[in-house]
Amino acid sequence: MERRATCSCGQLTVRCAADPISVSLCHCLACQKRTGSTYGIAAFFARDQVHASGQERRYTRPSDSGCDITFRFCPNCGSTVLWEPSRKPETIAVAVGAFADPAFPPPSKVVYEQHRHPWVEMTI
Ligand SMILES: [Zn+2]
Ligand SMILES: [Zn+2]
Repeated sequence: MERRATCSCGQLTVRCAADPISVSLCHCLACQKRTGSTYGIAAFFARDQVHASGQERRYTRPSDSGCDITFRFCPNCGSTVLWEPSRKPETIAVAVGAFADPAFPPPSKVVYEQHRHPWVEMTI
């Protein structure tokens, strides 16, 4: 099933030709900073199933494991739509919110629970 994710303004588009390999909810502080929300949700796809189009900028930061992550975001509206974890070069992560699809597959794992805001109740 093909799905489409976009930034807020719509010019940076990502087409995903297959279902995600996994969906991960992350409570880490870096995801809180990136999203402005209290957690981030990433869908990991096989790299060759993901096709981005539109203008983008990139921001690279090291992860806790020491491997760089490169975030790809819209230079117009600032939304981060996808990112590339160097630790898993065969995969690309796409921000689940960028699909704007409440029927998107739910998270299959939760990480960095030690940084979860206590009022965020988990149902998975
Ligand atoms: Zn945009
Ligand atoms: Zn995180």
